[in-house]
Amino acid sequence: MPIENLKSLSDAMFGIIGSNQVFLLAGHKRPDGDSMGAQAALAHILRDMGKTIVWHDLNACPPAYRFLPGIEADLARAKEPQPKPDATFLLDCSSTERVAPGFAPQGPTVCIDHHQTNQATTDVNIVDPAASSTGEMLYEILEARGLPLTEAVATCLYTSILTDTGSFRYSNTTGRVMAIAGRLIEAGADPAAIARACFENREPASLILEGAVLADLRYECAGRLVWSEIRLDRLAAHGGEASEPEDLVSKMRSARGVEVSILFKETPTGLRVSFRSKHVVDVAALAGRFEGGGHARAAGAELTGGYDDLRRQVLETARAFMAQ
Ligand code: 5GP
Ligand code: MN
Repeated sequence: MPIENLKSLSDAMFGIIGSNQVFLLAGHKRPDGDSMGAQAALAHILRDMGKTIVWHDLNACPPAYRFLPGIEADLARAKEPQPKPDATFLLDCSSTERVAPGFAPQGPTVCIDHHQTNQATTDVNIVDPAASSTGEMLYEILEARGLPLTEAVATCLYTSILTDTGSFRYSNTTGRVMAIAGRLIEAGADPAAIARACFENREPASLILEGAVLADLRYECAGRLVWSEIRLDRLAAHGGEASEPEDLVSKMRSARGVEVSILFKETPTGLRVSFRSKHVVDVAALAGRFEGGGHARAAGAELTGGYDDLRRQVLETARAFMAQ
């Protein structure tokens, strides 16, 4: 891992672990496979060290990731009164603003993240934009420390890496990523079972919604830009939020000739927008124009205001980016 001072950062992190007992775990809102996998892995690591975990927002765990070891038990446990945390971990999350509402960090704070747009102000901030996933970073930290890789931890970390590399297809899929995935499998992660859980357990209505969005693709810039949208009425007609297809915007990018795909999702206060690029355009910079962020090939932003006006503004800016 190219983090030069990883040893001192990791020492600082394990110092905080050693001197505290109850840990608050948080990731970015609307968690994805990396966010859930990394948090679930850390929950196992900390518990194996005799620590106690409090999740900030476990109920937001999408159904696809409830197979992760320990999640169902923790969901049941989360209904009971929780102890007061005395330290906080923020995973796969570039700032405290990206955490779901109600987040109140307690005690010393540690962030582990791989977003190039990271702006966390935690006491310890471990950031590696070259890492495929937060799961990969956690693996490196564990290995450097000589900590054991249990089957549960391996399953969680494999899920992080699988989902954030687009099933080992994106440019963040390095030889090191493949080597780590191999070790995770040797430690007990079951690739077929994990892929089935992540990708083949969808709400049937979600497929119909996906079909409607794909039937509605609009191409611009001579086919290099494609966009579509999920308006609130369309979402409601297809089973609501639980049916929102994950990573549909990546599928939209798959048409020949497309460089950038954009999916607008209407919200009660405005919209969320997801950007993907295939090879050239830095969509993190594009999202940055709207106070969003992410990675060069996958980014997003959340905007407040009138839907039509916001969509127009984003499209105008995207067209200008395509012309650069
Ligand atoms: P997605 O389109 O899958 O929601 O997000 C793609 C990437 O962009 C993820 O790495 C995600 O963390 C990041 N991202 C999505 N929305 C936002 C946002 O509103 N702000 C920032 N800073 N990053 C975002
Ligand atoms: Mn991630």
